[in-house]
Amino acid sequence: MTHPNKSAKENTEHIDAAVIGAGFAGLYAVYKLRELGLTLRAFEKGTDVGGTWYWNRYPGASSDSESWVYSFSFSEELEQDWTWSKRFPEQPEILHYLQHVADRFDLRTAFQFETSVTNAAYDESTNRWLVTTDRGERFSATYLVTAVGCLSAAQVPDISGREKFQGLSYHTGEWPHETIDFNGKRVGVIGTGSSGIQAIPVIAKTAKHLTVFQRTPNFSVPSRNTALSAERVGEIKRNIKDIREFCRWSTIGQPYDFKQEEALQLKPEAVEEQLESDWQKGGFEWMFGSYSDLVFNKEANDLAADFVRNKIRSVVSDPKTAERLIPQGYPIASKRLPLDQGYFETFNRDNVTLVDLRETPIESIVERGVQTNETVHELDVLVFATGFDALTGPLTRIDIRGRDGQSLKEKWSHGPSTYLGVASRGFPNMFMITGPGSPSVLGNMPTSIEQHVDWICDCITHMREAGTTTIEPDAKAEETWGAHVQELANDTLFVQVDSWYLGANIPGKPRVFLPYIGGFGAYRTLCNKVAEKGYEGFALN
Ligand code: NAP
Repeated sequence: MTHPNKSAKENTEHIDAAVIGAGFAGLYAVYKLRELGLTLRAFEKGTDVGGTWYWNRYPGASSDSESWVYSFSFSEELEQDWTWSKRFPEQPEILHYLQHVADRFDLRTAFQFETSVTNAAYDESTNRWLVTTDRGERFSATYLVTAVGCLSAAQVPDISGREKFQGLSYHTGEWPHETIDFNGKRVGVIGTGSSGIQAIPVIAKTAKHLTVFQRTPNFSVPSRNTALSAERVGEIKRNIKDIREFCRWSTIGQPYDFKQEEALQLKPEAVEEQLESDWQKGGFEWMFGSYSDLVFNKEANDLAADFVRNKIRSVVSDPKTAERLIPQGYPIASKRLPLDQGYFETFNRDNVTLVDLRETPIESIVERGVQTNETVHELDVLVFATGFDALTGPLTRIDIRGRDGQSLKEKWSHGPSTYLGVASRGFPNMFMITGPGSPSVLGNMPTSIEQHVDWICDCITHMREAGTTTIEPDAKAEETWGAHVQELANDTLFVQVDSWYLGANIPGKPRVFLPYIGGFGAYRTLCNKVAEKGYEGFALN
């Protein structure tokens, strides 16, 4: 705590590393940095660990990665002791898992909860980061490690009259801890991304009436989530080492990868048959464990898109509603593909109405509900499933200043500039876990996080052994990396639609492809090579 009679300088605590965030990334960073013998402090805005899973408590919140890989691999004992109940883990179980990890490895003691880092400023004269919190405390750290998450800066659209609404309103990414009872309530959900698509079927089950406000129809694939049998758990645990190794080198860090053959080289009936059989299995594997051209070639992509369009037609009873729900005009999976549990079926319920905002746009939010250009939809509860200021938002919302007082927000005003998505020139000794320019959100997050934390810790070890005090990317390496990230994205279908991958969901945000799309395994190889060559592309002093 800050001593009232001491000067700010005297009150500054000196540490080796400051870590921001207590999700998967922050927890593992603390674990590894401690292993190196570093003194550290970690800061978390919430009252406990969990990150994404602390904040996203909305009904139906669940991971889209198979549970046995949506977890840490650093401890064999942990892997063997922990048993997931379902194929796709739900929010309460993931949160419980992260709490267990924090207890088991005594990680909570490193954290200050209910503490936000407001500023982090690099002081060139001391080569240290001065970290300030909203409690007025100051810490001087050699290394600044951001574990702030990729999708943690909630975005509520600036719809006029929002403050006038007399009912209750929530953003999915800042969901309250108490149970929200929708019984007998008229509920509105704005947004049909992954969060909305997960929440809508669950809310519909208890709400008196649910109105879904849809601006862009979304593709979605059934998750077919099921309980894991004892036999299946045994099989996974016996093979977990191989499964993990496969994930580490796969394209999206998952326990499957694209098939060798391409859909366009096969007979359409054979492709259809395969898609149908994979569809019955459920999960992302339907798209990302399938023919690679489905994701990268428009003609092949149309096969997958039409397949889903037909599924929607076959599920939704009212043909007009079905047509409103069918995505048109953009490739499937170019926006992050959601997994669902009965999403399209929900529109067959008598208590669910779909409002197509392309036909009847929202004009404002009024005391009684949502006013479109047609009518007022009266509501007791309004849910904003409207997404996040992805990848850059969690970082630029903190006042981070590097050399010469340059702010990260200013530096990134035309789009993020990083080397490998892990560091940015002008911000020495600052490491970003799954920052923009790294595969991050395009893969299984725990796999991405472990790779980044391991790489960062190896780098710090190298620096300490070599007596190096400062590391930052050199200008050429950063520029080349940025161009490479954009070049790879420009060759894909991902740039053919407005999405949060491109920052297009945030008014005024530069249109830049944010994650690295070259494949997770390939990225790992690149990072390893950089390290092997003495941190090539970095200036070490
Ligand atoms: P999102 O994908 O960005 O979706 C936001 C939704 O809100 C879109 O349908 C968007 O419509 C709509 N929207 C935004 N502003 C609006 C406005 N002013 N008026 C009407 N509609 C508006 O956000 P999200 O669903 O929270 O998901 C974000 C990401 O978080 C996901 O893609 C995923 O990576 C991650 N996530 C993962 C899981 C999981 O693993 N299961 C679950 C939830 C979230 P437009 O499309 O027209 O912009």
